[in-house]
Amino acid sequence: MLSILRSLVQEVNSARDLQEALDVIVSRVQKAMGTEVCSVYLLDPATNRYILMATEGLYREAVGKVSLAYSEGLVGLVGSREEPINLEDAPSHPRYRYFPETGEERFRSFLGVPIIHHRRVLGVLVVQQRESSRCFDEGEEAFLVTVSAQLAGVIAHSEATGAISGLSLTGEEARDVSFSGVPGAPGVAIGEGVVVYPAADLDVVPEKPTEDIEQELELFREAVKAVREDIERVAKRLASQLRPEEQALFDVYLRMLGDEAMPGEVANQIREGVWAQGALKQVVQQYIRHFEMMDDHYLQERAVDVRDLGRRLLSHLQEGEQLHLEYPARTVLVSEELTPAMLGEVPKGQLVGLVSVKGSSNSHVAILARAMGVPTVMGLVDIPVNQLDGKELVVDGFEGQIFASPSDDLRAFYQAICDEEDELIRGLEVLRDKPCETTDHHRVSLLVNTGLMTDVVRSLSHGAEGIGLYRTEVPFMIKDRFPSEQEQREYYREQLEAFAPSPVTMRTLDIGGDKSLTYFPIQEENPFLGWRGIRVTLDHPEIFLVQVRAMLKASEGLNNLQIMLPMISNISEVEESLHLIYRVYHEVREEGYDIHMPKVGVMVEIPAAVYQIRELADRVDFLSVGSNDLTQYLLAVDRNNPRVAQLYHSYHPAVLQALVRIAQDAHVVGKPVGICGELAGDPGGALLLMAMGYDSLSMNAASLPKVKSVIRSVSREWAMQLLEDVLLLDSPHVIKSCVDLALRNAGFGRYLRPGKSTTIAFAEKALS
Ligand code: PEP
Ligand code: MG
Repeated sequence: MLSILRSLVQEVNSARDLQEALDVIVSRVQKAMGTEVCSVYLLDPATNRYILMATEGLYREAVGKVSLAYSEGLVGLVGSREEPINLEDAPSHPRYRYFPETGEERFRSFLGVPIIHHRRVLGVLVVQQRESSRCFDEGEEAFLVTVSAQLAGVIAHSEATGAISGLSLTGEEARDVSFSGVPGAPGVAIGEGVVVYPAADLDVVPEKPTEDIEQELELFREAVKAVREDIERVAKRLASQLRPEEQALFDVYLRMLGDEAMPGEVANQIREGVWAQGALKQVVQQYIRHFEMMDDHYLQERAVDVRDLGRRLLSHLQEGEQLHLEYPARTVLVSEELTPAMLGEVPKGQLVGLVSVKGSSNSHVAILARAMGVPTVMGLVDIPVNQLDGKELVVDGFEGQIFASPSDDLRAFYQAICDEEDELIRGLEVLRDKPCETTDHHRVSLLVNTGLMTDVVRSLSHGAEGIGLYRTEVPFMIKDRFPSEQEQREYYREQLEAFAPSPVTMRTLDIGGDKSLTYFPIQEENPFLGWRGIRVTLDHPEIFLVQVRAMLKASEGLNNLQIMLPMISNISEVEESLHLIYRVYHEVREEGYDIHMPKVGVMVEIPAAVYQIRELADRVDFLSVGSNDLTQYLLAVDRNNPRVAQLYHSYHPAVLQALVRIAQDAHVVGKPVGICGELAGDPGGALLLMAMGYDSLSMNAASLPKVKSVIRSVSREWAMQLLEDVLLLDSPHVIKSCVDLALRNAGFGRYLRPGKSTTIAFAEKALS
C-alpha cells in the first residue's frame, strides 16, 4: 500500500492542473481498492456547495454538474462531521440523497472521508460498491484516510495553482486570487513578481511564455550540445575503469539526448511558445512520471537518469542567466526560500515587496526586510511559486496576504493604503528631534536595530538615539568567507561613527538557528536548541577574539561602543566572555590604541536567563531582552515555522509575565534594561513595555516614528493601568484586542494594520 501511496502522491504532485490531479486520484484509488466507484467532491468556497469534480465509476457527464449544499447528503455529513462515514447500505441512511444523473442507484456501500487541509475541509473523497454485502473494512478505511491526508496539501496547492492560471472551480477566469501567509514586514506593495530559485532544480522552474522562440531554441540546442560533450568526456575518462555494461549507460544517456528523443519534444514545446527551461521541465517531468509508473524495476530506475539529464541540461541553460535577469522597476521578489543574498541582487530602489514560501515573521530575512522597510509576506505554503513570475502582485505585509492579477478596484484599494501610509510617515517627520517622553514626563530611549548601512541612514533620519542592536552576523552573511579583522573594523567603524557620541550596541556573532553562513555550515537536527550564538563563539575563541578586537579598534576616539552577548543560558558563559573581552581590551591598549573599556551587556532571550536576572545583572552593565527568541523558547514555537506561526504570540500572558519580572529584577540590582525584539517596534507592545519600566526600546527604523508618537501622546499612568488590566487576561488574542482597542480609543487606529475583515470583505465584494 505504501508504494501505491508514494507513486500516487508523486503522480498527483506532477499533475499539470487541479483537474488532472483529481482524475489521477480517483482512477488510482479505485484501482488500488478494487471498488466500483471513486469520486472527489470539492467544496466551492464561492457557493459553499460540494461539486462533483472527478469520478471513476459514476457517469462522467455528471462531473461539474452535480453539486450538494454544504450539509446535504452523505457527502455533506462527512464534511460537517469532519470524520469518515462507512455504511454498508447507504440508501437506507436518512441523509442519503439520490442523483439520477450520476447513475448512483446501483451502488449501496459507501465510504466517505473528509479532505482537510490546515483545519479547512476542502472536500470529500468517496468510494462506493454495488453489492450490499461489501462493507469496507477497517484497513480500507485507514487507507482512504491516509490517501486523503496526503492529498489534502496537494489539492490545496493544485487548487491555488489552478486558481492562478484561471482554472477556478467554476472555470471562470480568476482575478484577485489571494493567498494567505504570515506578515513578514508591514506595508503594502504593488509590483511585478520575479521568481528567484536555486540553480538546477527543475521542480522550481517557473512557467512562462517566450517571445523569442528562435533564441530559446538556440539556447536549448547549445545546452544539449554541452551536455553531450560533458558525457562523452566523462565516458572517455572512465573508459578504462568501467566494465562494458557500465559503459553502456553513457550510450543510453547519449541516445536520450538524440534529436528524436527528449530534445525533440522539448523543442516542440518551445515552438509552442514556452521558454526553454519551462519546456524542459514539462518534458522531463512527463518522462519521469512515465518511467516511475512502469512495473519493471529496471525501467522505474531510469527515471533517475532522466532527472539527472534534466538537471544537467537545466544547469547549462541557467549558466549566465543571472547576468541577464532583468528586474522590473517595481520588483516583488518571490522565492521558495528567500535569502539575504537574493535581496542584495536587486538593483537599488527597485525592490518593493518580498514573498517567501518558507519562514515566518520572525525569520531573519523578515527582520532584514523590516529594517529595509520592504513589505513582506512569509510562510505562503500553498502558493504556486512557479506561476507568479511576471504576474502583477499585491503584497499586503500587514495581513500576510498576497493577491495575484488584481482587478482595478483591488489595486485602487491597496494604492490608497500605500498613499495613506506614506502620508502618515511624512506627518511623523516633525517628531524627529523631539524626545520620546510621555505626557507625565516619563522618558524612554528609542534606539534602532541595524545590520546594514542602509538601516543606519534611515535610522538617523527617523531620530533614533543610538543603536540598541547591531546584528553583526548580517555583514558576515553577505560574504563568502569570514570577514578579516580589518574588514570588520571598517563595518563597525561606519556604525559607530554614524551615531557617535550616542551609544552603539554591537552584538557578538549570533549564528546558528536559521542564520547560517554558507562558508561555515552547521548541520543539526534541532538548530534552535543547538550550537548557536555565544555557544559557537566560545567554542571558537579565534572568531570571538578577532571580532572583539575589531570592535575595540573601531571605537578609538569615539568611545560609544557597547558589546552585547547573545543566547546566554548560564553565568559561566558570561564570565568566560568577559574574560576574553578584558584580555583583548588590554592587548589592544598595549598596542597603543587609545580606547575605553566598553560597557558589556547580555541578551535575555532564553527562559533560564529570566530566572537569573539578578546574577547576570551583577556581572554586566546592562541587559537587553531578545523577545523574538524569548517568545519562541517560552512557547516552544519555532519562530521560523509557518505551520505554528499562529501559536507564536508575544502578547501571550506567559511572555508578558516574564517581561514584567525581568524589568523588575534588573531594577532591583540597579541595572538598566532594554528590549530589542520586534515587540518593541509594535506600538501596542511598546506601550506595555514602557509601562513595565523598560529603559530603552530598540526597533527597526520604520517603526520608530509611530512608537514615538504613541508614547508622546499618553501618560505613563494610563499605560500602567492598561498593563494592569491586560495582565489579568488569560488569552493572547484577547490581550491583543484589548491593546488595539485602547490604541483606537486614543486616536491611533491608523497605526493598526488594516482589519483583515476589511480586506476579506473587499475581496469578496470585488469577486462577486
Ligand atoms: C531576539 O531574539 O529578540 C533578538 C533581538 O535577536 P534575533 O532576532 O537576532 O535572534
Ligand atoms: Mg535572538
